Amino acid sequence: MDAPVIVVGAGPAGLVLAAELRLAGVDVIVLEKLAQRTGESRGLGFTIRTMEIFDQRGLLPRFGDMVTSNAGHFGGLPMDFGVLDSVHQAAKSVPQSTTEAILEQWALELGADLRRGTELLSLCDTGDGVEVEVRDAEGDRQTLTARWLVGCDGGRSKVRKAAGFDFPGTAATMEMYLADIRGVELEPRMIGQTVAGGMVMVGPLGDGVNRIIVCERGTPPQRRDAPPPYQEVAAAWERLTGIDISHAEPVWVSAFGDATRQVTEYRRGRVLLAGDAAHIHLPAGGQGMNTSIQDAVNLGWKLAAVVRGAAPEALLDSYHEERFPVGQRLLMNTRAQGLLFLSGDEIQPLRDVVGELLGYEEVAKHLAGMVSGLEIRYDVGGGANPLLGRRMPHLELVGEDVKTSSAKLLRSGRGFLLDLEDNAHLRGRAAGWSDRVDVVTAVPHGVGANSALAGVSAVLVRPDGHVAWAAPGSHHDLPMALGRWFGPSRNPLD
Ligand SMILES: Cc1cc2nc3c(=O)[nH]c(=O)nc-3n(C[C@H](O)[C@H](O)[C@H](O)COP(=O)(O)OP(=O)(O)OC[C@H]3O[C@@H](n4cnc5c(N)ncnc54)[C@H](O)[C@@H]3O)c2cc1C
Repeated sequence: MDAPVIVVGAGPAGLVLAAELRLAGVDVIVLEKLAQRTGESRGLGFTIRTMEIFDQRGLLPRFGDMVTSNAGHFGGLPMDFGVLDSVHQAAKSVPQSTTEAILEQWALELGADLRRGTELLSLCDTGDGVEVEVRDAEGDRQTLTARWLVGCDGGRSKVRKAAGFDFPGTAATMEMYLADIRGVELEPRMIGQTVAGGMVMVGPLGDGVNRIIVCERGTPPQRRDAPPPYQEVAAAWERLTGIDISHAEPVWVSAFGDATRQVTEYRRGRVLLAGDAAHIHLPAGGQGMNTSIQDAVNLGWKLAAVVRGAAPEALLDSYHEERFPVGQRLLMNTRAQGLLFLSGDEIQPLRDVVGELLGYEEVAKHLAGMVSGLEIRYDVGGGANPLLGRRMPHLELVGEDVKTSSAKLLRSGRGFLLDLEDNAHLRGRAAGWSDRVDVVTAVPHGVGANSALAGVSAVLVRPDGHVAWAAPGSHHDLPMALGRWFGPSRNPLD
């Protein structure tokens, strides 16, 4: 084997997956067909859940001063994300190129073997491993082998096609343009402000660059292998707004559609998919890159545990079980948002009604939870404790000789058991997993200390930050939960 895991694609999903595998001590080769990053601004910023995830890995300082805000929208209708319970706000206007540069640096520092200029051509799942044929940076063909292959190779994924994944859904019905342009002054326009014949949006990106989006109703979808010429975008803009922007300098031009598809399984044999390779949709509400990163964080520690032989292969089934429904809801809400901001006047009454509903806190919470990822609750085995399956809330923690936080405890990529009642018996029950799970005796203090863990005596948190077990109120006992998520104990008596 050249490596236990080969990841195809060094976009956000592939880079995060590679880093997560390395955090868990697993070697990984990342194949990336582009010799250099594209520099495209695509995904602008992070949802609240991604901010929490970057915090748990200590990545936020690498992004410097980010503009954060609770102001957002659902389908172009303004929505306040401040109704959600998080110490973080969404980050605005971090270009995807910056995000990728930072994630690449992180993955490289951790020891990922990134092979730029290397394209996957074909693959074969041999049952006990995967063989891939690649064209390397010198143009030579070679065969690489791994135990597992993960396709993080984007919406047109070759891995998905070559491994025979089903990818049902709906084809694109229309095409929209996007351009980042310099040298023209334009008033900001929120997404959803329709004009006769379509919708146009302007968002300032800083340094005199504006992002514009143009949707001219009736523009048929095209399969493009190259970006549209800027003059095509400027002409559509002028038809819709009457304003000539043809003299602006285009920094990046792109076209995209509303094709909506999701694979029916996230794993076939030894091949798994993450990110856009598993789901495509209209970019609405800034979710695609964020969901892709979160797929990778869900998969990384599980795949690492299986590779290290610490956990059985069955742990990987939970990747599909947990992330497939998240993808389904992503497709559902981007479709709904597309209808709201791309349709014409005929749906104005619907917009008015939804706008009115968003004024109710419960409604805003529900939709903001969906778009931000905060609604996610995995099935971790049942029980009455409301923390089960949810992400561990951010809490500052103090113990006899510890001062830490729930986010800091996750920096290492290991799970942790938080013992809130200095319970030696409980700690003893976790001793057989001490090579995989840290045990901390501490209590919350500061903001939220009294509410988030009220009545809770202990919490087991997975490496991705989700609560796997909590006492009281879990159906399983602690060793059973430890065994399910971290593999068998080293102690034969457990
Ligand atoms: C106009 C636009 C605006 C968007 N805005 C947002 C936003 O605001 N927020 C948000 O969250 N998302 C946004 N998105 C979506 C976001 O860009 C994607 O969801 C995200 O890039 C997916 O990441 P990924 O790692 O899964 O795939 P990608 O970023 O597509 O990365 C795939 C990588 O695989 C490589 N690759 C492909 N084939 C091969 C091969 N055969 N061999 C080797 N390498 C290969 C590619 O070169 C690429 O580097 C937007 C998308 C578009 C188009």
